[in-house]
Amino acid sequence: MRYNPPIFIQKGFLVGMFRLILTVAVLVGSLWGAVTPKKVPVLCYHRFSSGDLDSMSIKTHVFGEQMEWLKTNGYTVIPLDTAMQYMEGKIKSIPAKSVVITVDDGHKSVYSDMAPIVKKYKIPVTLFIYPSAISNAKYAMTWEQLTELETTKLFHVESHTYWHPNFKHEKKKLSSEEYAKFVDKQLGGAKKKLEEHMGHEVKYLAWVFGIYDDALLIDAKKTGYAMAFTIDRKHASSGDNAMALGRYMVISKHTIKDFERMVDGTEDRMPAAKKEVVK
Ligand SMILES: [Zn+2]
Repeated sequence: MRYNPPIFIQKGFLVGMFRLILTVAVLVGSLWGAVTPKKVPVLCYHRFSSGDLDSMSIKTHVFGEQMEWLKTNGYTVIPLDTAMQYMEGKIKSIPAKSVVITVDDGHKSVYSDMAPIVKKYKIPVTLFIYPSAISNAKYAMTWEQLTELETTKLFHVESHTYWHPNFKHEKKKLSSEEYAKFVDKQLGGAKKKLEEHMGHEVKYLAWVFGIYDDALLIDAKKTGYAMAFTIDRKHASSGDNAMALGRYMVISKHTIKDFERMVDGTEDRMPAAKKEVVK
């Protein structure tokens, strides 16, 4: 009598099973690719100082140490626009350890303290600017300084509303008609003013004090912003509303370990209560 091996070791059966497993793996892989959000850490700075610090400042040398740490640990600082195009699917890939650097408010210490370090490490930086302060407020940069920074091709100006208002307070104070006009000035007016001065399209917005609501998110999109940023401590993710993307504010109390947790995604995975402590 001929020996018939059990079905599970017959050649045809094995080949069939292998094909099935392969097909399932490919299907799961492509579905996973489609649903897994693309994420990038976006850092948010304000002011730099070699002397006294307020809560929004960071010591200039500490910023330098953070940039050195990124370099030593294999991170690539990429332009905000590149990261956003990647999230939109317009760019296929970015370096595995990518990070974006943004600075809000246009403080003059960006020009005096930060820029030399930015030039040393040749890193791209996005400046979220509110035009009412520029060439006007004592603490702010001038239009000439902003243009000079953009000439380096390292800095790029985007919008931080027109005069840095608190939308919550204004909404309470103004009639609905006045408030609509006010929002248009802050979102559309700022975009136009910055585009006139800088001579390029302004596509991105940073919410002031991180304040936004559902209506403002719709207004920002209608105004023509491609994406907008909060200070909600998480990676910017293609899975989130494009008008409310996360950023990590970096301040003086953060240690290099805290900084590492922001860029490597550890803080993103922390429970909300723990994140409040990091803040
Ligand atoms: Zn601000």
